[in-house]
Amino acid sequence: MPTTHKTRMLIIGSGPAGLSAAIYGARAGLEPIVVQGLQPGGQLTITTDVENYPGFREVIQGPWLMQEMQAQAEHVGTRMMWDTITEVDLSGDTFIAKGDGGDIYEGDTLVICTGAQAKWLGVPGEQALSGKGVSACATCDGFFYRGKKVVVIGGGNTAVEEALYLTNHSDDVTLIHRRDSLRAEKILQDRMAANPKLSVVWNKKVDEFLAGDNGELRALALTDTVTGESSEFETEGAFVAIGHAPATELFKGKLAMDETGYLLVTPGTPKTDIPGVFAAGDVCDHTYRQAITAAGMGCQAALDAERYLAAKAFAGVTETVQG
Ligand code: FAD
Ligand code: NAP
Repeated sequence: MPTTHKTRMLIIGSGPAGLSAAIYGARAGLEPIVVQGLQPGGQLTITTDVENYPGFREVIQGPWLMQEMQAQAEHVGTRMMWDTITEVDLSGDTFIAKGDGGDIYEGDTLVICTGAQAKWLGVPGEQALSGKGVSACATCDGFFYRGKKVVVIGGGNTAVEEALYLTNHSDDVTLIHRRDSLRAEKILQDRMAANPKLSVVWNKKVDEFLAGDNGELRALALTDTVTGESSEFETEGAFVAIGHAPATELFKGKLAMDETGYLLVTPGTPKTDIPGVFAAGDVCDHTYRQAITAAGMGCQAALDAERYLAAKAFAGVTETVQG
């Protein structure tokens, strides 16, 4: 039987933004509900080493950090729901979200922390060979390619981290990038340069993922972005690591967003264009996209949600007294 769950603060998403909002919201007595979505814990659950989240001298593991964050949120009174939101109605005084099993969530405030999802190249062979040599997560699938020749496509932090991670499984890892310089932080580039198992192919774009007779990935069809020359690059595994797109499909036509789908907030705040609806983390941030910045925005969203409710309650009291 579908159930209706009511809360003063409904949070969609359980990454660092959602769980930080929950910790602050619960401590403010808002009895938050977090709807976790298909990736409980968010993007950090698909990585391994995290060494830039403050408070930990030693390298920590992404999945462990998110388990701890969830435990902390639950400890202070958050209700975690194993559900995914498929529809939202932001037109009324109470914000309504529908789960994929039919449950209804009603929030006096709504905090959107749906983060971002891996982007694909969108070239022939990519989806057909997904799981047959093509992946978007080295930390999830790298193990299956031990001892094999693999490539990573992209030039940001994720691509370099994925390539470095893959050297735990393979002695022959190639990063393929469409330009002649990387976006990745210098410390990661230095580690890459020092790793003998890793090499880079510059100025090449992938046109197609080619299958072998066995139906598995055999090679990539490439074009040189400077000379226009075509070539093939043989490989048994290809990891696409070209960034992420914000998960905002649910809010199209309902909330202001930019041309790439990031939710628009009043600069420096988590306020969307609907009072009482807040956004935090990667879903509204195409600049920083870090666990710590997402957590910070989650905190801001909870503090602003509390202020919004207090102001609304005060306005109600004033109206009653005056009326
Ligand atoms: P996310 O972590 O993306 O979480 C989004 C949440 O929303 C998920 O729980 C998902 O299930 C939920 N959701 C989405 N749609 C729905 C829906 N319809 N209904 C319900 N729930 C929904 N940052 C660092 O600071 N340090 C690092 O070392 C680092 N390493 C990284 C390694 C990798 C491989 C990647 C991909 C990212 C890394 N990042 C790192 C970036 C960091 O993970 C993100 O900036 C951070 O996770 C963003 O947090 P978030 O809460 O905004 O969203
Ligand atoms: P990103 O920084 O946006 O980099 C994406 C890379 O993919 C870029 O190099 C881009 O090339 C390339 N690319 C994009 N579309 C392409 C296409 N169609 N074909 C070929 N190449 C394409 O994404 P990210 O690396 O996933 O990082 C996202 C955010 O998470 C960043 O803010 C990053 O700092 C953060 N993050 C942090 C860590 C960490 O702190 N350790 C780890 C991972 C991620 P161009 O360079 O030519 O544009």
